[in-house]
Amino acid sequence: MNEHDSERIAGLLESDGYEETSNQSDADVIVVNTCCIRENADNKLYGTLGNMKQLKDDNPDLQIMVGGCLAQKDRELIQQRAGHVDVVFGTHNVHRATALLSDARSNGPVTEIWEEADPDEAFASALPARREIDYAAWLTIQVGCDNSCAFCIVPSVRGVEISRTPEEIVAEAERLSSQGVTEITLLGQNVNSYGRDLALAARRSGDQSVRIRPAFAQLLRSVGAVDGIRRVRYTSPHPKDMTTEVFEAMAETPEVMPHLHFPLQSGSDRILRKMHRGYRAERFLAKAAQARETIPDLALTTDIIVGFPGETEDDFTETLRVAAKAEFDSAFTFVYSPRPGTEAAEMVDDFCDPDEVKDRYARLRTVIERSALAKQQGRVGVTEEVIVEGPSKKDPTRLSGRTGQNKLVHFPRPEGPLRPGSYARVRVTEGHTQYLIGEFVERTAAASHRTRIPVL
Ligand code: SAH
Ligand code: SF4
Repeated sequence: MNEHDSERIAGLLESDGYEETSNQSDADVIVVNTCCIRENADNKLYGTLGNMKQLKDDNPDLQIMVGGCLAQKDRELIQQRAGHVDVVFGTHNVHRATALLSDARSNGPVTEIWEEADPDEAFASALPARREIDYAAWLTIQVGCDNSCAFCIVPSVRGVEISRTPEEIVAEAERLSSQGVTEITLLGQNVNSYGRDLALAARRSGDQSVRIRPAFAQLLRSVGAVDGIRRVRYTSPHPKDMTTEVFEAMAETPEVMPHLHFPLQSGSDRILRKMHRGYRAERFLAKAAQARETIPDLALTTDIIVGFPGETEDDFTETLRVAAKAEFDSAFTFVYSPRPGTEAAEMVDDFCDPDEVKDRYARLRTVIERSALAKQQGRVGVTEEVIVEGPSKKDPTRLSGRTGQNKLVHFPRPEGPLRPGSYARVRVTEGHTQYLIGEFVERTAAASHRTRIPVL
């Protein structure tokens, strides 16, 4: 979500005449887009801003903007601790970026935070986005979150759930496709509750025929049907709201990739209850099993938090057990980080011992990596269609690509051009924990986006 906001800010600046530079000392504007989901991002901000002070001393015309949810949370603090910042803005007024810059240029430092989204501006669908990658794009379908997970700061900084209409989403998918985008990732904090607010609003305005049920499954089918879109992904669904219809839509829509990111958070029912996640471990496992039965060749990934307040060794053992049983393809694992204003941050007496948490974290990684390696090795011998991302970072004689399951694969560069955004068939020859090795079989589709050529 945050990366996509960065693209929108960059797009706004570009349409205002700014050009990207890779050298900070050449910049007229530097935007620091922050995230407060975990504390380490918090810690990094002031160091980063401190380093920029010198740039500003060397070039007094330089403008520094700080946006995102951390800026929203710490608004006054930023001005206090880094007086050289010109603009502080939040997540609900991203579309104001260029106006705020010119305001600050005439009148001095500005802080403008909107407490909630303006529904007309929430998606800023008309905002240009300067995408880092030309052939793949994020598409926001929903902002905010109506859940109240005890550890999570998102609802307080991103506000209540607002869904974008299906017509608008499909129109944006068509627009992206016409620009040569072939892969779309639908974005929302709880995508399976997509559309609930729209149905409720329709009912309130008198249309009793509207059923209050998640419209996400239908949305997957509609976006998959957009001409030119070859791959649809999404993140994140919430296990408590996951329905059979979504699994069926995934199975029956060939464009929807066989990858489910399914955040577990903890394997202990006691901790899940304290987190207010709304499901138990057995229910999570049953849904994961149903997903695997319904969707052929599904890759399953997750998020897990270690050391939530009050987590005992027994609770953690349950997490290990559930993680092992779920046989995840990979997982983002996090050490619990208290966030101001959240329910769990108040549970200070129950905070876990940091050394113990470190030890648990390492044990969890072992379990995750064991199933990850087995899953990766299970791909050996399979011929996969991959989207080509470009030369491998470590070895330029190889290209890197992503399989349908979202696994990274490196393969020797074939004769002839195969530019980023092309599709190719690659036969997997080796499976490693983080990547696959393969050999090129054939190109299946050329990239269709235009290459950006800098105008000098
Ligand atoms: N809406 C998504 C999560 C978005 S945040 C969902 O419900 O799945 C992404 C991940 O960050 C979460 O899944 C969680 O594992 C992690 N996270 C969020 N708050 C955290 C905290 N306070 N400490 C550690 N990890 C956290
Ligand atoms: Fe945070 Fe829970 Fe909402 Fe995800 S579902 S954004 S974890 S409150």
